[in-house]
Amino acid sequence: MAGTVHFESRDRIAVITVDHAPVNALGRDVRAGLVEAIERFEADAAEIAVIHGAGRLFIGGADISEFGKPPQAPSLPDVVNRIEACTKPVVAAIHGAALGGGLEIALGAHYRVAVPGAQLGLPETKLGVIPGAGGTQRAPRLVGAEAAIEMATTGTPVAAQKAVELGLVDRLGEGEALDAGLAYAEELLGQGAAPRPVRDIAAPAHDAAMFDARRAALKKKLRGEVAPLAALDAIEAATKMGFDEGLAEERRQFMKMMETPQRAGLIHAFFIERKVAKLPEIEGISPRDVSAIGVIGGGTMGAGIATAALLRGLTVTLVERDEEAAGRARATIEKNLAAAVKRGKLKEDKRDAILSGALSCVTGYDALGQADVIVEAVFESMDVKKEVFAELDRVAKPGAVLATNTSYLDIDEIAQATSRPEDVIGLHFFSPAHVMKLLEVVVADKTAPEVTATAFALGKKLGKVSVRAGVCDGFIGNRILSHYRAAADHMILDGASPYQIDKALRDFGFPMGPYQVGDLAGLDIGYMTRQRKADQRHERDRYPGWADTLYEMGRLGQKTQRGYYIYDEDSPRGRPDPEVEEIIAKEREKQGVTPRDFTDAEIVERYMAAMVNESARVVEEGIAQRPLDVDVTLLYGYGFPRHRGGPMHYADAQGVATIRDRIKQYATEDDHFWKVAPLLDRLADQDSTFASLNG
Ligand code: NAD
Repeated sequence: MAGTVHFESRDRIAVITVDHAPVNALGRDVRAGLVEAIERFEADAAEIAVIHGAGRLFIGGADISEFGKPPQAPSLPDVVNRIEACTKPVVAAIHGAALGGGLEIALGAHYRVAVPGAQLGLPETKLGVIPGAGGTQRAPRLVGAEAAIEMATTGTPVAAQKAVELGLVDRLGEGEALDAGLAYAEELLGQGAAPRPVRDIAAPAHDAAMFDARRAALKKKLRGEVAPLAALDAIEAATKMGFDEGLAEERRQFMKMMETPQRAGLIHAFFIERKVAKLPEIEGISPRDVSAIGVIGGGTMGAGIATAALLRGLTVTLVERDEEAAGRARATIEKNLAAAVKRGKLKEDKRDAILSGALSCVTGYDALGQADVIVEAVFESMDVKKEVFAELDRVAKPGAVLATNTSYLDIDEIAQATSRPEDVIGLHFFSPAHVMKLLEVVVADKTAPEVTATAFALGKKLGKVSVRAGVCDGFIGNRILSHYRAAADHMILDGASPYQIDKALRDFGFPMGPYQVGDLAGLDIGYMTRQRKADQRHERDRYPGWADTLYEMGRLGQKTQRGYYIYDEDSPRGRPDPEVEEIIAKEREKQGVTPRDFTDAEIVERYMAAMVNESARVVEEGIAQRPLDVDVTLLYGYGFPRHRGGPMHYADAQGVATIRDRIKQYATEDDHFWKVAPLLDRLADQDSTFASLNG
């Protein structure tokens, strides 16, 4: 018998142990071992079998090391069917997690017991496929169609207690899973229980209206992602046809998903997320201890950063300019925490403890003497930042990390305002800082590796996905953003409307288009950036003059109910405004442009070409060390659709040469903005990919 599955006959009960560290993944040996164990059980004198997992969980799911390789027998559906067809009863005893194929194995068993703490789920759609070993057919037979849809389309696992309420497992056990399984097996023996295949349970009746409503809601939410819809179709099949036909339909949908480029995109996203924090420069370097955080400035960002730290059990001292501002900051943080309580993310007594003990909002810098990390989030002005850092140098204890949340400014210059530039680093959070997952860790010239390691450890503690970036205007994300935003502005100038551009990009998969994002963030931000960069403007830069007009009219976006869109009671999410189109038309006239039509496809191609081109420059300059750092940044901070894997993966999927050639063609109209990045050109010439540079 394969060493990863053990069989032991204990008098009347056989124990089948899946023992394949770290997560008992369903690799070939485990699959073969399970079949062998069932066969041995059938030939054995034992009357009932208990399957359980060794270590910290039942079965974590498919073996990711087999992804992309030719399948090897026995297949998972065959294993599940074999367990279900066992002539004697089989119990699954679940602890830790039963996910994906792991849950499907449990559904192949005839009886299920789970102990508290166990999570049961069907997360396959998160990787672009659907449950492929009967999950979509067996789950609805146990929990009903709606609960099965919820599980399979969101991928969110349910806890043991909830699984019992739903009927996914038969009972909640106590103590060790194996003990709970043995106790349940004894009881079943006493009752003379027979095998009880889930396939024999009647499926829920077909409810066409419910499926149609679910399908419509999903389509709206998914913005082009297909796997959850395929899961829904497979579950619908369970309610419309017999078990074996349903299984065949599940298989058909599964195979269809295996072929989609979305699956490759989602798997890419999954792997790069695990690779992004693996950096040679901090390997083996111990981070400094961090338990107390200082935050300077309690505005939009400072209050959010403080909230993020408090939610993760750190103490926070926030410094503002005066009592009134400190009071405002505290009120914002209280509001954030109250929202966390409401969403069930924070217990009320914990919140009270934070507010009475872990948070202080003060006006003097001297209170920061004990802070392990201090994050500055004051106005975006070099002079103000330098003053703040000089103060921090005076009050911070030796070894404290001094971080800035600047969006664009030169961190090397900020570090020079201190006598300890090796302790200075950028921690670029995204708004709202207690919600957004991305953290750009900006490593300056003199930053010590230990400080970088500490920043990554802090990011992890805060639940962030941290990306290493180098110093330049805008670091990785905002630098690339300003380039593709410019490409969008050029399209407006040439005849596209902001509304068409937003829609084309929503259809591509972004949650919002760039002009909706502008309205949300405030159009004053773009205006200030244009002002700041005014002296760097080139005579051939194509200037979005209409955007200045909107700013000058006080149309700052959602906060003034007017920006690119109108926001009012009838249209809280915004509706197009003909006046904006007139303003744009005037600007075209002023610049002597004859407007032309754009197709949605051309909008996406130009936007993406600009994004890929600047990304290639960012990689080549070492601002991002690998293409994957760009992909993670855009996925987690800029709403890039996950099923497309990020801009670098998108370029690889389209063909690097295709993107290069598009840019060459655009350059025939404007060779000032459109210049092929040398790295893109090289990769295209070599018929290579960005992925080849990920290491
Ligand atoms: P904000 O105007 O909302 O808040 C700044 C706060 O700093 C104000 O409350 C102000 O009273 C306080 N402040 C100013 N000088 C101070 C001083 N010397 N000591 C103590 N407090 C002081 O600005 P924000 O949007 O929170 O931005 C802060 C920083 O974060 C900027 O560098 C900005 O570029 C960056 N940032 C902003 C965003 C965003 O989306 N808003 C995102 C990432 C980074």
